[in-house]
Amino acid sequence: MEKDVVIIGGGPAGMAASIWCSDLGLSNIVLEKDGSTGGQLRKIFQPVRNYPGIREIDPRKLADEFAEQAKALGGDLRIDSSAASIDPEALRVELASGEGIKAKAAVLATGVRRRRLDLPGETELYGVLESGAKQAAETANSRVVIVGGGDAAFENALILAKFASEVTLVHHSSHFRARAEFLEPVRRNPKIKIIENAVITGLFGSEGKLQAVGLEGKNGVQRIETDFLLVRIGVMPNSELVDGIVTRDAKGYVIIDANCETSVAKIFAIGDVASPLSPTIATAVGHAATAIKVIKSRLASS
Ligand SMILES: Cc1cc2nc3c(=O)[nH]c(=O)nc-3n(C[C@H](O)[C@H](O)[C@H](O)COP(=O)(O)OP(=O)(O)OC[C@H]3O[C@@H](n4cnc5c(N)ncnc54)[C@H](O)[C@@H]3O)c2cc1C
Repeated sequence: MEKDVVIIGGGPAGMAASIWCSDLGLSNIVLEKDGSTGGQLRKIFQPVRNYPGIREIDPRKLADEFAEQAKALGGDLRIDSSAASIDPEALRVELASGEGIKAKAAVLATGVRRRRLDLPGETELYGVLESGAKQAAETANSRVVIVGGGDAAFENALILAKFASEVTLVHHSSHFRARAEFLEPVRRNPKIKIIENAVITGLFGSEGKLQAVGLEGKNGVQRIETDFLLVRIGVMPNSELVDGIVTRDAKGYVIIDANCETSVAKIFAIGDVASPLSPTIATAVGHAATAIKVIKSRLASS
């Protein structure tokens, strides 16, 4: 199959790229590895209130609107389609299924994913939560350990303290990035205990159920009995696809210029995968407009 533009990732950046392609007369395909488009919008449980032009919107509704607009304009949206490799010279993207798509330009819009502790048991044990907001009721009258020191960790501590009997927040330093609107209520909450300068070193379970975490800190090694664990230690870019192909920074974010072009001609990167400092919907859709306008003008003059 051949298209003008192949877009990898169906979050806000990828959807906006498809919309701009269709608007500018460029044939396009969006490859999304998950079963639905929308990216992180499907993981936000609060209304979005900072997207210009829309006072307040359910993020899932915004994701649906993006997809409907992209489809109505003629974008070819493929769900359950994971891009497995990219040939930078032929500009050919190969899907995990083996199918190949050739294009005149490729746009990487693969976003970010949550960092994990990478400890044995983290993905198998019942009790390791995916979402504090969504699974809060499960933690009723139970003990919860949360790892992290940013907004996500602190906001979740406040949410879960409404259900759990006790919440222990563990952070590797004594400096917290969380904003004051979360920090102060957490510090005042009698159900929440903070352990600073400590790292989780192990998870312990029995019969598939989490029972305790191992902790190493200034008091040495200790074990904390817990029923649930929530890990909120930041995100990492989904940029493995271009490992060894385009230039990335030390954390793996793709480095782009003002045109959203990477170190390799005709490969562009947009949205969170290239935005360590401004991971927002507005940046993602702004990048998309920039990249596709540049692609259009390059193709017109070639
Ligand atoms: C809890 C939370 C609250 C937030 N609140 C706000 C807010 O209020 N306002 C705001 O502006 N932003 C907010 N954000 C951030 C916003 O959601 C992101 O900035 C935005 O989703 C980035 O869009 P993206 O398309 O770059 O990446 P993503 O949304 O991460 O989408 C990337 C997509 O690429 C897909 N993908 C990855 N690898 C492959 C592959 N190999 N092949 C095919 N597909 C692939 C992924 O499955 C995913 O669907 C919030 C985020 C979270 C988690």
